[in-house]
Amino acid sequence: MQGTIVIIDAISTNRIMLKVQLSSAWYHVVQADGLMGLVDLLHRTRPDLIITAMDLPDGTALDLHALLAGEPGLAATPIIAITPQNDHAARLRALAAGIDDVLVQPVDDMLLQARIRSLIRTRSLIDDLRLQGGSPRAPGLAPGLAEAAAEFAMPARASDPVLPVKPGNVAIVTDDAVTSAVWRARLKGLTAHHLQGHQFANAQTLLEAPEPDVIVLELPQSHESAGLRLLADLHARGATRHAAIICVPNPASPGSPALAAEALDRGAQDVLQNGFCAQELIVRIDTQLRLKARMDQMRSNVRDGLRAALRDPMTGLFNRRYAMPWLSRTARCSSDNGHSFAVMLADLDHFKQINDQFGHPAGDVVLIETARRLKAASRGDDMIARIGGEEFMIVLPMAGQNEAMLAAGRLCRAINATPFVVPGFSQPITVTISIGIAVSPPPACPLDSSVGEFGDHISDLLITQADRALYQAKGAGRNQITLVRPAA
Ligand code: GH3
Ligand code: MG
Ligand code: MG
Repeated sequence: MQGTIVIIDAISTNRIMLKVQLSSAWYHVVQADGLMGLVDLLHRTRPDLIITAMDLPDGTALDLHALLAGEPGLAATPIIAITPQNDHAARLRALAAGIDDVLVQPVDDMLLQARIRSLIRTRSLIDDLRLQGGSPRAPGLAPGLAEAAAEFAMPARASDPVLPVKPGNVAIVTDDAVTSAVWRARLKGLTAHHLQGHQFANAQTLLEAPEPDVIVLELPQSHESAGLRLLADLHARGATRHAAIICVPNPASPGSPALAAEALDRGAQDVLQNGFCAQELIVRIDTQLRLKARMDQMRSNVRDGLRAALRDPMTGLFNRRYAMPWLSRTARCSSDNGHSFAVMLADLDHFKQINDQFGHPAGDVVLIETARRLKAASRGDDMIARIGGEEFMIVLPMAGQNEAMLAAGRLCRAINATPFVVPGFSQPITVTISIGIAVSPPPACPLDSSVGEFGDHISDLLITQADRALYQAKGAGRNQITLVRPAA
C-alpha cells in the first residue's frame, strides 16, 4: 500500500517542498493549513502519519495531539512536528506531550524518510496485532466477537502521556565503560528505571536475564559500523527482539543525519539526533516503555486468543478443532518418515453415575484431574485432546502396537490405581477408563498418490477403528484396553 501522509503548515512553500519530497517516495500526500476542519479531513483520509508545523495559525502541534486523542480511529496516528528553531525546551515539551518526533528545518530528507518509515512500521505492527485479536477484550467476550469493541479499544497514541510508566529495565550499551558510567550517572537522579551498563566488547551479557525493555545504544564516531552491526543483531535476537532500541549517534559526526537514518532503518525505534541529553533520553525512554507495555499486552492477548481457540477451557487440553488437523499432519509425517503412529480414544466409565451420585461440580473436578493424570502419564510428543464430555483422544507419533499398548496401560493405571479426591467428599471416588487403540498401516504403501488426501483418509479410518475398539472395551466390561490390528 502506498501510505497517506497529511501535511499541516500555513506556509504553502513549506507544504509544497515537503509534498515534492514525499511524493517522490510514493506517498499519497494531503495538505491542510491549520486545525480548522482538520478532524473531518483526517476521518476522510485516515492518514498513516501526520507531519505538522509546530506553530499553526490556530494552535500548535500539541493542540493537534490533544485534538486527536479523543478521536476514535485517529488517536494512534503518529505525528512529526517540524520547527524552525532548535529550541531544546520546546522539543522536550512536545515529546513529553506525546508528539512522536520533532525535526528542525531544514529537515534532512534521508532522516525524515527513515523516521516516517519507522513510525509507519510501528503503527502497522500495532494494527496487525489488533487484527489478530490483540485489542483488550471486554471480559467474557469470546475471540472473534470482539471486533465491535476493537475500534473503541484501539490503542491510544503509542506515546500517550496520560499512562503512568512503570519502572523498566534499561540497558545502556556504549563502546567504553567510562561513557556508560557517565550516562548512567546523569540519568540516575531523573528516573526510577533500572539502569544497567554494557560495553560493545561484551554485549553478550545483554542476552542474559533480566531482559531489557529498552536498549540505549551508542553509535560512536569511531565505531559507527560496530554499533550498527550490534543494532541489527539485537533487533533479531530472541532475548532482545521486543526491546525498544534508542540510538545515540555522536552529533559531531559529519554523517550524523545519515547515520540516524541508517539506525532507524535497521530497526531502532528512536534516535537522539542531537547526541546524548539526559532529559530528552528520559522522555524518549518513557515513550518507548509505554509503547512496549501496550504491545506486550497485545501480544499476550493474541497468545491468549489463540490458546482459547485451541484449548478446552476446563481441562486445558487441546480441543477437537486442534486435534483433527494435528492427527492428519501426523499421518502425513508418518508416510514421509516411514514410522507408524497410534490413535487412542479413551472414555471414562459410568461417568454419568459419578455426576448423579456426587453432583456435576464433583464430575468437573474428576474431569480436570483425569486430564492432569493423562498428561502426566504421556510422553511429551503425544497429543492429548478432550474431544467430548468425558472422551479424550491421544495421538502417539512414531508408535507401533507394542508402544501403544504399553502407553494405554500406563494411562489406564493412572486413572484406576488411585481413587480421586474431590473437595467436600470424605471418601475418594474410584474412577476407571476404557481405551480403544488403532495403529496406522505400514506407511510404506500410501493409499493415495496425494499425501494430503492420504493424511485425511488414514485419520478418518483410524478414528473409526479406535471408536470400534473402544466400544468393544466397554462391551467387555470396561476398565480395559482393546487394540484393533492395522488395516490391510
Ligand atoms: P460409559 O461407561 O458407557 O461411557 O457411561 P457414561 O456414563 O460415562 O456415558 P454417558 O454417555 O451415558 O454419560 C456421559 C456423561 O458425561 C453425561 C454427561 O452429563 C456427562 N458430562 C459431559 N460433559 C460433562 C462436563 O463437562 N462435566 C460434567 N460434570 N459432566 C459432563
Ligand atoms: Mg463414558
Ligand atoms: Mg462418552
